[in-house]
Amino acid sequence: MSKKNSRVYLAFYFLLYLSSCHSPNRQQTNISSNPATASHLEIHIIDVGQGDCFLIITPSGKKIIIDAGNTGRGAGFVLPYLKDHNISSIDYIIASHFHSDHIGGLDEVVNGLGGSTHILSAAFDRGGNYDSGAFRDYIKSIGDKRKTISPGQMIELGDDIKMKCIASNGDTPGGKAYSGTDENALSVVLLLKYRTFDMYLGGDSNSAIEPSLVPYAGDVDVYKVSHHGSATSSTQRLLDCLKPEVSVITVGDGNTYGHPNSGTISRLVAVNSYVYQTESGAAVPPPGKGEIANGNFLIIADGYSYTISGSSLVSKTRPTDSSQAFACLTGKHSRQWPFLFLVSEN
Ligand SMILES: [Zn+2]
Repeated sequence: MSKKNSRVYLAFYFLLYLSSCHSPNRQQTNISSNPATASHLEIHIIDVGQGDCFLIITPSGKKIIIDAGNTGRGAGFVLPYLKDHNISSIDYIIASHFHSDHIGGLDEVVNGLGGSTHILSAAFDRGGNYDSGAFRDYIKSIGDKRKTISPGQMIELGDDIKMKCIASNGDTPGGKAYSGTDENALSVVLLLKYRTFDMYLGGDSNSAIEPSLVPYAGDVDVYKVSHHGSATSSTQRLLDCLKPEVSVITVGDGNTYGHPNSGTISRLVAVNSYVYQTESGAAVPPPGKGEIANGNFLIIADGYSYTISGSSLVSKTRPTDSSQAFACLTGKHSRQWPFLFLVSEN
């Protein structure tokens, strides 16, 4: 091949590469592609009806599962989803709290993939005990992989991706914030950060602890709406801190809890957040202010922008918020990454 021809071929392949980067179908393709080949951070919102389940996949292929829906949903929804994505092992499980709509399916996922000894590095939760069959099944399935996550603890995921715990078991980095027995208020609260992309995931945490989290949260791009959009979560003070461009509500049709609460949706819309729901539930965002996925959907972040797509959603890419998370009260980035200590990857 002549030099001239080789230059033509190089230019051709470069254009091919560019066009593949900007393919409008890329996000939709990714939702069913092998995530090991993905080049971006993926946050899969798996629709388990009334409950939570998130699958996070890093560019280098680390896999984190946060909750797995109610008993039966792990085997019925999550495992098939993992198998569709050729996922046979998990690096970290995080149980947000011990209610069955969050941990009920975790044992089914762990056992269905072959047992914690073979497929799991660590399972983090708030520590302590809880009196339920779902909890006992969860504990049995994770065995000696169980670890207590502490406020301030950072999970390093590689690829410049960090996950920081800002609340667990009623504790914050500043000390005890809640000492009651409301399991929701004991939820693990996490900040996921990838370059300038930030997401807040607070399980079912509520107004009993939200004011205490404001100093440790900050301006985020995506808010996993706490407690399925319940009236007693997503307080105005927290929303004024988070300023989420996008809110994600995980909720089931026909739920008996009235989730999401229409007042909560109004508060989200009032802070200019665009609301995505897995299902319609008890209320939906007003026209033009959100969409119902009617199933699973996907957030793909490259650290500077993020795209949300799903089979019933209009795929949309947004730039990340230039503001960094943390320190709402001071207005300064006084709580820098890294924070306290690192978790070894075993
Ligand atoms: Zn819940």
